[in-house]
Amino acid sequence: MEKGCNLCDESKLDLGEKTPYGAKVIYKKDGWFATLSPKTGGNPEKDFTVQLMPMGHLNHISEISKSLNLAKSYGIAFSKISKAVTKIMELENRSSENDEGIIRVGTYGKSKHPEEHFHIKIFPWTGNIGQPYTVDSTFEHSRRYTDKDGEAFIKMKPVEKMMIKPERMQYLSDKLISFLK
Ligand SMILES: [Zn+2]
Repeated sequence: MEKGCNLCDESKLDLGEKTPYGAKVIYKKDGWFATLSPKTGGNPEKDFTVQLMPMGHLNHISEISKSLNLAKSYGIAFSKISKAVTKIMELENRSSENDEGIIRVGTYGKSKHPEEHFHIKIFPWTGNIGQPYTVDSTFEHSRRYTDKDGEAFIKMKPVEKMMIKPERMQYLSDKLISFLK
């Protein structure tokens, strides 16, 4: 537990409780907790993001393997949350949004800031949030443009984070909590 760390403070909240910025705790088990973010960069009527973090003050993902139990419970939490996100997307027929007809779940995580916990984001991979990222081979194959200085660039659709309505937050958090039981 580190003094002045927001995520250490959030890890003390119970399931269904809100953080000061409006995220809701939807998972808490075996050293890990997850929150539903109050905002989304996608469609606020459909999209959402879950953030998975260690309850302990671990900054770097490389620290997890120090404890076999923590590593194991990370894998379980990651899989269960991905499954819960998938189930909500199935209920809302999100597979109809791509030609392959599949439910696409995205994950993004990095160990970057020494003052915050390692965290990973799990979310419906669709629309403006579902654009190829630098590590995807599709990104490499994106069409290149050249600006007036002769520098190459790739076009991406802009993302604006918007608040999810309270009723939708309630619906999503109730569903996620029940799927993750
Ligand atoms: Zn902390």
